[in-house]
Amino acid sequence: MPRIKRKRDALPTLNYTRRGFRLKDGRLHVAGGIALTVLWSRELPAAPTSVRIYQDSLGHWYASFVVATTAQPLPATGAVLGVDWGVKETATTTSDAHDLPHAEHGKNAAQRLARYQRMMARRKPARGQAASKGYRQARKQTAKLNKKVARQRQDTARKWAKSVVRDHDSIAVEDFRPKFLSRTTMARKAADAAIGATKTALIEMGRKHARDIRLVHPAHTTMDCAHCMTRAKHALPLSERTYTCTACGAVSPRDKNSARVMLVRAGLNPAGAEGVRPP
Ligand SMILES: [Zn+2]
Repeated sequence: MPRIKRKRDALPTLNYTRRGFRLKDGRLHVAGGIALTVLWSRELPAAPTSVRIYQDSLGHWYASFVVATTAQPLPATGAVLGVDWGVKETATTTSDAHDLPHAEHGKNAAQRLARYQRMMARRKPARGQAASKGYRQARKQTAKLNKKVARQRQDTARKWAKSVVRDHDSIAVEDFRPKFLSRTTMARKAADAAIGATKTALIEMGRKHARDIRLVHPAHTTMDCAHCMTRAKHALPLSERTYTCTACGAVSPRDKNSARVMLVRAGLNPAGAEGVRPP
């Protein structure tokens, strides 16, 4: 069941617009005469228009600045790419060189995560009681591990997105919605989270470098033939790894077929066949 979020339990955030903050000598001055020393992760490309100061689940404080940026266009390549998301391969694309196998970041942490979660359950404070030191420790370790996994995913996703965006002008992407996140197994959750992080990274990277990213509605993408666009009468069972078209007889690996369907649906590859790149 979704848990109710309460403001008094939420982590603190403070927002300041232009008149509420000032940068002077590398320090951040906010309204009320408060001066903060900031560890800069990088130089700001322009004067910020607002800042959000927030605390994360580990208790670390961050200052996040809003800065107007301009796109950094990359040289045109004349290439297009179709992307299909999946469990075993996080991304299957129309270019073999750009397929992204599932990194299984969550898998390596799952055992330790389970241990911390057991610790939390055991040390759980009674209703109305303050949380014990042990409970808070376990909670912090859980948060730390979750954050580590999320960062690993983001790192993998950004590196992949960079190479995809560098090598293609237009990219057709399945508009994936994580529908299984709330139930089913750890493996499925991890795959969903990896897809979510990768999709976000790709969209951000595309915007940064002024590339054409097209989101494709995911319905029936596994049922259509990328060769002749005929829809199969029945959905392929997940165990079936090859797509065979009953209309034109085209045979191709299931995920590669879906990736090609993305291209055709986005209007990027009217020729359809074999994922041929237009001249
Ligand atoms: Zn066909």
